[in-house]
Amino acid sequence: MNEYDSDRIINSLSANPVKDPSDADIIIVNTCAIREKADHKAVSAVGKYKKLKIKNPDLIIGMAGCVAQLYGKKLIKQIPHLDFVIGPREIPKLRDLVFDIKESSSHRKINTSMDVEEVFKVSPYHKSGKVNGFVSIQQGCNKKCAYCIVPTVRGSEINRPLKEILEESRLLIDQGAKELTYIGQTVNSWKYEGERFYNLLDYLQELDGLERIRFTTSFPRDITSKMVDSMKNNTKVCRQLHLPVQSGSNRILKQMKRAYSVEWYRDSISKLRDAIPDLSLSTDIIIGFSDESTKDFEETMQLIEDIKFDTIYSFKYSIRPGTPGELMDSHVNEDVALDRLHKLQSRQREISLENNLKQVNKSYKVLVESESKNNPNEFFGRTSQNKAVYIKNINKESIGKILDITKKEAFQNSFIGEPT
Ligand code: SF4
Repeated sequence: MNEYDSDRIINSLSANPVKDPSDADIIIVNTCAIREKADHKAVSAVGKYKKLKIKNPDLIIGMAGCVAQLYGKKLIKQIPHLDFVIGPREIPKLRDLVFDIKESSSHRKINTSMDVEEVFKVSPYHKSGKVNGFVSIQQGCNKKCAYCIVPTVRGSEINRPLKEILEESRLLIDQGAKELTYIGQTVNSWKYEGERFYNLLDYLQELDGLERIRFTTSFPRDITSKMVDSMKNNTKVCRQLHLPVQSGSNRILKQMKRAYSVEWYRDSISKLRDAIPDLSLSTDIIIGFSDESTKDFEETMQLIEDIKFDTIYSFKYSIRPGTPGELMDSHVNEDVALDRLHKLQSRQREISLENNLKQVNKSYKVLVESESKNNPNEFFGRTSQNKAVYIKNINKESIGKILDITKKEAFQNSFIGEPT
């Protein structure tokens, strides 16, 4: 979501991005508030640019994103060299805001209103020929999970009209995109004027020039049999699903207000795997929320053992201001939570590698995205299952094409492959 917003920031200013910050006229730090660590990082990132502002007083420095939304005024007070803060929903107004700052003698602007009218107005910047891109289909969230700050900083759910989704997709395809990832906080709850997420997949399947469709993030409770059928039947939909479970314990899920049980989650996975046997699965897990006991944690370990996700994004719970989690009596002690997190991550590393090793010497369709950043003789691509493959023995003409690639070597997070 933030990557997408950064590209919208570039487009809203018709900006020409530079690599070296000292060459910039405007520096905007786009921020994430999902965990405490991320929001500290955001503030220290802005601090780094103070020296540049001293050298060049005309330089405009702004902060965008969820930290800006959350602490707006406070940031302007605390950071004297920060010219403006702007919330995620206000990106379409960024251009006017920057002009105002340039023209007025009193810099310092705060724009953290939650406009619902223009929220999708600016499309993202897309480098010509880039093989993949993002399209936002939803902003905000109505779910209100007890640990989560998203509804506070991004507001309640707004679903983007179908026509706009198709138009933005067309724009990106015409600029060279072959694979688009449709994004929303609970993307599979998208609905608009009678159309549902499963219908949307049917419309996207019909887009000429689009070869692959991904979407994230899905909410477990919103997986329906129609959605599973649509994923199965629409051949452009990638065989990959990110489905955050957060905990393997019903007791903790209840406190998190996730609105599903572990049994519901397991059942959804069985249905998905029955329909789409080559589906790759990833999830998110939070460790140490509330009074998570050893037994609760063991249930989470059992879940990852049974499901064998390809990837898990796991974090130690971090209290976020204004969420129900902040008001809870206590959460798991830091050291215990860290210990559990390491145990989970260590087992998951083994599972990821075990899953990947089973794919060696098999052939997969890989969309070649770019040259490899690490090795000039290799190219980078991904399978439909979102597995990263570094490919040997192909050339630049392959970028943007889907090739049959045999995986020759497997690692925990990637493969080495060559044409089949
Ligand atoms: S569904 Fe996701 S974005 Fe929405 S409140 Fe829950 S964790 Fe946050």
